[in-house]
Amino acid sequence: MPDVEEVVEEYGVEEYEGVEVWESTPSSLNIQNEVDWIEFDQERLIWRVRAVWLAGSQSREALEVERLVELMEEWKVGCQRCRAFGEPDEGHDIWGCRGEGAEAIQMGVTLFEEKVQWARFSGCFECGLPQDICHRFEANINQGGWRKRVDGTCQYAGVLVRAVFSIWVRFAQAFGDFIEGEMEQSDWVVKTASEEDQGPEMEDIIRWFGRKVQWGGVESNEMCVRFCKFIEQEKI
Ligand SMILES: [Zn+2]
Ligand SMILES: [Zn+2]
Repeated sequence: MPDVEEVVEEYGVEEYEGVEVWESTPSSLNIQNEVDWIEFDQERLIWRVRAVWLAGSQSREALEVERLVELMEEWKVGCQRCRAFGEPDEGHDIWGCRGEGAEAIQMGVTLFEEKVQWARFSGCFECGLPQDICHRFEANINQGGWRKRVDGTCQYAGVLVRAVFSIWVRFAQAFGDFIEGEMEQSDWVVKTASEEDQGPEMEDIIRWFGRKVQWGGVESNEMCVRFCKFIEQEKI
């Protein structure tokens, strides 16, 4: 959440006119006289701005979810390592790649797939993508939510994890710093001297990647969200 004043400054107050956010007076306010009313109005404006910003950020997130699908379409083709390195695809996949860093990527993917424990409802346990995206799931009309299709398979099997590790190896420093920063911003704290020196341990990163995140109206995980964010940020 940004500073409210920054938001007001950035978007202008007028833009929020007519947006009904409150249906009742916040109970924290004790309105007895004119001064209180003025304060209440200010308070209300602040909350209105916050609410509009939140709604806006949710639709921005919804666009990011769409973007994730686009990225999966792109990254499912050919070798993820060669895509990350901007090298021409020579008709191999990641397991057949002999390029620089390929072995590190293969090891990373193998380790991750062995260790990861996706949080419940954070996505498909096979491919890591939101259940809204993966074809192994279908909407459960009767009970809400998602259920496994009888004959469903992941249309982007392995793509997310291979793409993330390819990016990680290709942009080692930048991606490492990015992840450390994002982890710190959630709730990860440095506990040991080695972490102080080298950042979070692989085990912690893997656990963190598997955490559930509400994202643009879908249930997802840190890996999906941070993958999109890094790609966007670095204009990859
Ligand atoms: Zn390759
Ligand atoms: Zn899947």
